[in-house]
Amino acid sequence: MLEKYQESLVNRFIRYTAVSSQSNSAVSTLPSSEGQMRLAELLKSELEQMGLQKIKLTDQAILTAVLPGNVPDAPKVGYITHLDTFDGGFSPDIKAQVMRFTGDDLLLNKEQNIVLSVKDNPEIMQYKNQDIIVSDGTSVLGADDKAAVATVMEALQYLITEQPPHGDVIVAFVPDEEIGLLGAKAMDMSDFPADYAYTLDCCELGEVVYENVNSGRCIIDIEGVVAHPMSNKGDRVNPINVGIDIINKIDFNDNPGTRQGAFTIREFEGKTRTAQIKISIADFDKDKFEERKKFVEKCIHEVQSKYPTAKISYNIENFYLNMLDGIPGGESHPSVQLILKGMEKLNIPIKRVAMRGGTDGSCISHRGIPTPNYFTGAHNFHSNFEFLPVTSFVKALELTVQIIKDSAIKQ
Ligand SMILES: [Zn+2]
Repeated sequence: MLEKYQESLVNRFIRYTAVSSQSNSAVSTLPSSEGQMRLAELLKSELEQMGLQKIKLTDQAILTAVLPGNVPDAPKVGYITHLDTFDGGFSPDIKAQVMRFTGDDLLLNKEQNIVLSVKDNPEIMQYKNQDIIVSDGTSVLGADDKAAVATVMEALQYLITEQPPHGDVIVAFVPDEEIGLLGAKAMDMSDFPADYAYTLDCCELGEVVYENVNSGRCIIDIEGVVAHPMSNKGDRVNPINVGIDIINKIDFNDNPGTRQGAFTIREFEGKTRTAQIKISIADFDKDKFEERKKFVEKCIHEVQSKYPTAKISYNIENFYLNMLDGIPGGESHPSVQLILKGMEKLNIPIKRVAMRGGTDGSCISHRGIPTPNYFTGAHNFHSNFEFLPVTSFVKALELTVQIIKDSAIKQ
């Protein structure tokens, strides 16, 4: 259906990936990197050329705009995608390339001999004799989330060119998703007046996400009591010992890939005077998530009473919550039904995924707009072997257009 948009979609993606926009967790400004603002400015000028309305770019690099609908009273459909790419210690500069995959390993980088091997990535075989977009092996590809940015921009172009019946489409491009959904958290919701919205922020063809793990973090700071070993020996409190006692009370039994919750120890560092522990707390169930947070507090209090002269302080914060608690009815919510029905129409196999991660939709759903997530088509997010099969990418565009069109039809 959308073959004639394929070339433009791919070119768009390569154009956006060429603007380096890695986020930087060491910086506390929003956006955390200047490249994100440059990408937002590029998108703003393209939205202006397309004739969108209410275009607004804030100094935090939050870009919003509206494509007015031609069907009165149709629901307003939102799309929110993120401008930043994941750091992960890779180069911030992305050199995307389209390669034909013949079934042999893909040589991403001749000089550095970086190879995307079939043995390590057997799932690539399903794309034999197709075009695949890859990086040069020194960076992520940035399909997370620029495949989504390109898909949304191309869908707008389609709607403007082909003029199918549709309601208002409201788009948002936000910074710093990768370092804590910061753009989505900062967005002025009055600039995003959608009835429901979508992110395209996950993986292979067919993946649908309407639930994700609740995720938070506890940072524990411990100050011990220092004394010379020759005097006051009994008064000494070693903060590392205190930290070990706290850690030993918690079962760090991570269960990636399951729907169970988990505690994960991220960092433990200490010297004779101070120590710090960082613990991730995750659970799909809201109540169990709260219980886990309380359990960590209880462990800290118990250890504090064992070492009354140590100063232990802690801070627990939520990173993101389960979007399901912000999508009333879950799978039966119209926003999710539109994805599933659209995929049926387009013969896309449906893969429901309970995500062990968060999207901007995890935040936006809790800010009042149900926002499930579906595929871009890419594999290996956050890796230098991230790859995007062109056929899957086009399907993401087809599904996006289908959802927007179906939204305007009375269900
Ligand atoms: Zn992402």
